[in-house]
Amino acid sequence: MRRHRRSRILATLGPASSSRERIRALVDAGADVFRLNFSHGSHADHAERYRLIRDVERDVGRPIGVLMDLQGPKLRVGRFAGGKAVLATGAAFRLDLDPAEGDAGRVCLPHKEIFAALEAGTELLLDDGKLRLRVERFGPDHAETTVLVGGVLSDRKGVNVPGVVLPISPLTEKDRDDLAFGLELGVDWVALSFVQRPEDIAEARRLVGERAWIMAKLEKPSAIEHLDEIVARADGIMVARGDLGVELPPQRVPVLQRRIVEAARAAGKPVVVATQMLESMITAPVPTRAEASDVATAIYEGADAVMLSAESASGQYPVEAVGIMDRIIAEVEQDPAWRIGLEASHTPAAATTPDAICCALRRIAGLLAPAATVAYTVSGFSCLRASRERPATPILALTPKLAVARRLALVWGVHPVPFEEAANLEAMVDDAAAAAVRFGLAGPGDDLVVIAGLPSGRAGSTNLLHVLRIPDAPPAR
Ligand code: PGA
Ligand code: MN
Repeated sequence: MRRHRRSRILATLGPASSSRERIRALVDAGADVFRLNFSHGSHADHAERYRLIRDVERDVGRPIGVLMDLQGPKLRVGRFAGGKAVLATGAAFRLDLDPAEGDAGRVCLPHKEIFAALEAGTELLLDDGKLRLRVERFGPDHAETTVLVGGVLSDRKGVNVPGVVLPISPLTEKDRDDLAFGLELGVDWVALSFVQRPEDIAEARRLVGERAWIMAKLEKPSAIEHLDEIVARADGIMVARGDLGVELPPQRVPVLQRRIVEAARAAGKPVVVATQMLESMITAPVPTRAEASDVATAIYEGADAVMLSAESASGQYPVEAVGIMDRIIAEVEQDPAWRIGLEASHTPAAATTPDAICCALRRIAGLLAPAATVAYTVSGFSCLRASRERPATPILALTPKLAVARRLALVWGVHPVPFEEAANLEAMVDDAAAAAVRFGLAGPGDDLVVIAGLPSGRAGSTNLLHVLRIPDAPPAR
């Protein structure tokens, strides 16, 4: 079973999508990678979902990626007497470390790091930006604020401090605990929330090692300031538009989305556009036209994947949401303007042997229109470089490592397949032809391009490009 489209779908699992049948239906509808969101649910919930994904993976015979999303330092207020309070615009409101229940005049903010990073005039956003406070005076354990925009504030609502770099690691105690659990399960990607600095990635890398690829979620203004460095250090990038649109004005989001996608594509790092893509489908079986257009825009920009959050995790129409996303992508990818746009936004390759090979692949794909490219990849690196070129042919990635195949399930244009390594060029060419035929990408008489590194087995050693025509009676393997 294979996909025709190049761009990928990342679907979040939750209460609405946790049965084996539902997960299978999501895969059949088009989901390529699943997100386990550790902001919600117990370890037991995630372990069960993980197990079901692997069951479904075995049934469909295609590697499925699993991305664990760490909650990160999502700051929250404490609880109120009666569950909520009404903050009046213009009134004074106090935040402090006292765990006692709050009221209309104060509430606990159990994060002393925030108080340490405040300045007079700093604005605090509550409940996804619905309420707004301005800091007047503060000490190490409290802040006196004025309510700029009031409203109802209920228990445990989120707090954003835009523009302030908080002196905190993106990995909380809970994240470290969740991370150890997820890595033990065998997740393929780890997403870090509220990344602020390039060093945040390095810190996560020390814990994750080679066990998974790391995705940086860009949702803080300070991350945007260090965009290129963060892209360079992470393995993948998420345009996390939900929190990004709280930390910055919403009109900045589309502009930054373009810039982030461009930066990630230039670096050859897979990039996901996320949040509110089909938001209305949480309760409706069809999307708004504006939402359909939003998904299409991400595909025209050349993103590797588009993501569903509540639509697939807790909405009423998870399978329909994946299905419409699949059809929107397919439609865009048939538009000649999509290919022209990808070419126009292409950036030059690096002066390295693997990139030179991938550059040649792109030119050959345009000139000869081969049925497929077969890429031998050990670490996945050469496949990322090939995908970076956005070649006109699908890339069949043959890798000896199942874990690498699963990570590549998120990558634009790549069909990952676990495959035994061939020892020499002749065996490689035979295997490549057989694999391309078996996966339905090519038939007798079709041209194929093979890229590989010889001697094989080393990461980043791609140094060979071979064009072949599949004979009328392809080798049966
Ligand atoms: P979240 O991340 O859903 O974990 O908050 C995505 C976003 O903020 O857009
Ligand atoms: Mn977020």
